[in-house]
Amino acid sequence: MNLLSIVVSVYNEEDSLARFCEVTSGVLQTSLSLDEWEYELIFVNDGSADKSREILDGFAESDKRCRVIHFSRNFGHEAAMIAGIDHAKGDFIVCMDADLQNPPELVPGMMEKFLNGSDIVLMARAENKDAGWVKKLTSGLFYGVLNFLSGVKFERNVSDFFGISKRAADVLRKDYREKNRYLRGYIQQIGFSKTVMEYVAPVRFAGESKYTMKSLVRIAMNTLNCFSVTPMRVGAVAAGISLVMTVLSFAYYIGF
Ligand code: UDP
Ligand code: MG
Repeated sequence: MNLLSIVVSVYNEEDSLARFCEVTSGVLQTSLSLDEWEYELIFVNDGSADKSREILDGFAESDKRCRVIHFSRNFGHEAAMIAGIDHAKGDFIVCMDADLQNPPELVPGMMEKFLNGSDIVLMARAENKDAGWVKKLTSGLFYGVLNFLSGVKFERNVSDFFGISKRAADVLRKDYREKNRYLRGYIQQIGFSKTVMEYVAPVRFAGESKYTMKSLVRIAMNTLNCFSVTPMRVGAVAAGISLVMTVLSFAYYIGF
């Protein structure tokens, strides 16, 4: 018997969870050939302050295929995904959001790619119905800068919706343990066979995006630092120049 693990990151999603669980379980129960595949849903509660904790505990109590990990505070989406991957027992592991912007109906197609030999199935947004022009523009700029500085050609528009085989997950579990992570980038770099599938991201089922512009800028800066030493070099050169200027102006000041 094979196991499919679905890892779901949850931060203040009380209004989406019931619908997410209903739709996802429905899709999996009708699409998996249940004599060959079982599934587990691993919810990672990233320090939610609303009723998500109680709702998730209810899922775990009523369905033994649901498991819940509660974080002691909000550690961020990347940390939630890696904790879920660490605890997933599946042969194929799919990470998804809880707001139904990553359509569960696409999971069977992702599994097909896995069964045909892809260790990594990247889901690229052909369209994001929630993103305004500012988000689209800054996202385009971010990928341009990232690809330029890192020298790696990362796929544009891939999301935190992806599937990985057990052996790809093992690499993430063992070798990618730094605090600032960029999973969607790592899985493009660890080798193995990859497939990119396009999808249209619908609008969020309920609630609002949990990312503020400030947190997106912080994540973008962390990511650039993960994949390139250029920002650090620029900082070091700027520090060197300002040191020389300080010494020169001090020398001038004391009359040399
Ligand atoms: N999320 C999380 N921790 C955070 C922020 C978000 O676990 O600190 C979860 C959130 O609950 C959702 C997913 O990550 O399931 C994606 O977040 P969101 O939908 O707000 O991002 P967007 O789709 O706007 O990029
Ligand atoms: Mg979303």
